[in-house]
Amino acid sequence: MEQTVCRRVLVTGMVQGVGFRPYIYKLAVTMGLKGIVYNSGQGVVIKVEGILSRIEEFINFIHAHPLQLAHIANVNVNTFPGQGFKDFTIAVSKGGVTDKTVVPPDAATCAQCRREILDSVDRHYRYPFTNCTGCGPRFTILKELPYDRTCTSMVSFPMCESCVREYNDPGDRRFHAQPVACPVCGPKVYLVDQHGNKIKGDWVEQSRLILSKGKILAVKGLGGFHLACNGLDNSAIERLRRLKKRPAKPLAVMCRNLDVVRKYCLVTTKEAELLCSPAAPIVVLPKRSASSLPQALSPGLNTLGVMLSYTPLHILLMGRCFDLLVMTSGNKGGLPLVTDNASALAQLQGVADFFLLHDREIVNRCDDTVVCINENKTHFFRRSRGFVPEPLMVPGNNQGHRGGKDIAVLGVGGDMKNTFCLLRPGQAYLSQHIGSLDKLEGQNAWHSALQRFCHLLGVKPRAVALDMHPDYYSAALARELECPTLINVQHHHSHMAACMAENGLNGKVIGVVLDGTGYGLDGEIWGCEVLSGGYHAFAREFHLQYLPLPGGEYAVNNPWVTAVAYLISMFGEQGYEKAEQIFPDRRKQIGIIVKMINSKINTPYTSSCGRLFDAVSALLGVCRENTYDGQAAVQLGEMIPLYYQGELDPYPYTVNKGVMGVSILFSSIMHDRARSVPPEQIAKRFHDTMVAMLACAVQDVRARSGLNRVVLSGGCWHNRYLLAASHGFLADKGFDVYVHNKVPPGDAGISLGQAVIACHNIT
Ligand code: ZN
Ligand code: ZN
Ligand code: FE
Repeated sequence: MEQTVCRRVLVTGMVQGVGFRPYIYKLAVTMGLKGIVYNSGQGVVIKVEGILSRIEEFINFIHAHPLQLAHIANVNVNTFPGQGFKDFTIAVSKGGVTDKTVVPPDAATCAQCRREILDSVDRHYRYPFTNCTGCGPRFTILKELPYDRTCTSMVSFPMCESCVREYNDPGDRRFHAQPVACPVCGPKVYLVDQHGNKIKGDWVEQSRLILSKGKILAVKGLGGFHLACNGLDNSAIERLRRLKKRPAKPLAVMCRNLDVVRKYCLVTTKEAELLCSPAAPIVVLPKRSASSLPQALSPGLNTLGVMLSYTPLHILLMGRCFDLLVMTSGNKGGLPLVTDNASALAQLQGVADFFLLHDREIVNRCDDTVVCINENKTHFFRRSRGFVPEPLMVPGNNQGHRGGKDIAVLGVGGDMKNTFCLLRPGQAYLSQHIGSLDKLEGQNAWHSALQRFCHLLGVKPRAVALDMHPDYYSAALARELECPTLINVQHHHSHMAACMAENGLNGKVIGVVLDGTGYGLDGEIWGCEVLSGGYHAFAREFHLQYLPLPGGEYAVNNPWVTAVAYLISMFGEQGYEKAEQIFPDRRKQIGIIVKMINSKINTPYTSSCGRLFDAVSALLGVCRENTYDGQAAVQLGEMIPLYYQGELDPYPYTVNKGVMGVSILFSSIMHDRARSVPPEQIAKRFHDTMVAMLACAVQDVRARSGLNRVVLSGGCWHNRYLLAASHGFLADKGFDVYVHNKVPPGDAGISLGQAVIACHNIT
């Protein structure tokens, strides 16, 4: 007979607050092992007794079948003197350390809860707030720590007897699940019209009826409101666009199940995994060319943002009635997502016909996360619900963290697509998507989210990092915090550092930062930059040739203006004529643009990559006006996959004395355009030219500096073709190339870079 042994197993990672102890309990009991499991400061500790082979099997099982919401970092096994355990138990946590100090992100409804809400004999049948330790709301309902029901918005819903029983039963799936609820004790849903009058009858049936009639329904979800309509009803979608004043920006849809997604879009295994993961993000997928999807969902694009129903409320709402529902954020243009019933009725009045409300408070606003799969890895457009507030591991620097664990460095982020970042030793906590800071509502949202984060983490920023831009709202917000240590960080340096940090890089690298707008050290608008350096400092090695931007923001919104400005500044009188030929209906305005450029009135200079893409997009007749951020560039990038007619050499360009010149590139494009070369072909050659030109600059930097690591950051790297082609090209040249896979490459990621830079520059 095998001898009984004892082992002490320490499991670290995201293992607290996710039902890990009951999982271990059940596993041990099933395997006939004795012992104890409890939370410690480092993770979950298991002391387990039994025969050696069984214990090994037990440990292997934990490795091979990690609990859905748990992310195991390490499993450490030590021998331990036997204690003669009689059974297996879950110990009540001692001291200050409990699983209640960890805040997991919200998780999509698990398969078991899904089964229960559809099972007419289960007590959770048709209950829209069903959840368990493996799923449900977390961050969005949490007011403060410890993570206890009393500290969440579930405090107003005392558990009924049945729920208490499950909550206290270590063998139950709902053991210590803080938000558990049932039809007897939990929150309730109700449907109202525009005036707040309740609609009688079953909310599920009534809501489905409303949607099937082509009406718009505002739905209170997990992290905020959505505006919903039938995703196959073209006129409903067009009406929603009209009322929301959103003519072209792609709308996300929610699908009933994975089969439905496959019916309309092409889905790889990796993409399917992401869709079905607990984070349940919006995944941007290629549309099937023969699918019957309404054009109005994502006009001018080959892709569509898709998610699966991730709460019981959504599952019940869709039923078998709808293949897909449009689920776009419930807000007024540029304002934060609406989270409470009263604001919904006030703000979405005139857009939504009906409102599906409930009486559980959304404590932390949290927009849907948007990702795609690039080169088999996750690429974030927006990192929010399902990921926040899980920290990222980043290279530590003790210097910035003198004074202990409760000291943090804050990166306040940028003005667009804002997030902020609180950095603790080795751990970066990025906020949820805050969005635009140009309005008071956005600034208030920023303030309250920051307050909540500091409170939840128990930290107070000892240093605050901000963008150098003198007019940034985020910078003004940073100054208002009255922190004695303010550190100004250049925009593109932040981008570079963000990519370094998420890849765990130290030392020096080459940074290729491509974006729309960032305030440069010379006071001009930067945006297509090849940098070298690290967290401490950087040098600007190359930049795109400076071009005029008449009217600044006006040109940003009107790519055709940028196109005209480039033609004029590159080709003078000739450019004027060309501009008039290409945009004959804009003669008058072209005259004004010329005057502005010549007299330098309200015409800053820019090396922006985004503007270059805008100009080419407008010249090729792809997009003249941006109705949403990056539209012209996005549509230009989307043309590439349509073009498969062999390889063409890049257009000519110059890389000289720190400047990447595009004058000859432009005349070549004009030449091709005059010869009626298909715009897809010109677009592809333009992209290939960018790849070659940037690689040329990067090779020059390597030759002088010996640096071989390249980080790619900035919003232009959302362009799939540009990213894949550059990555491949640089890797072929022997570079170690690093891209963003944990935070978005755009301005949503700069708070991370700011914080890391500040941390390394505190004296
Ligand atoms: Zn569940
Ligand atoms: Zn109950
Ligand atoms: Fe940027």
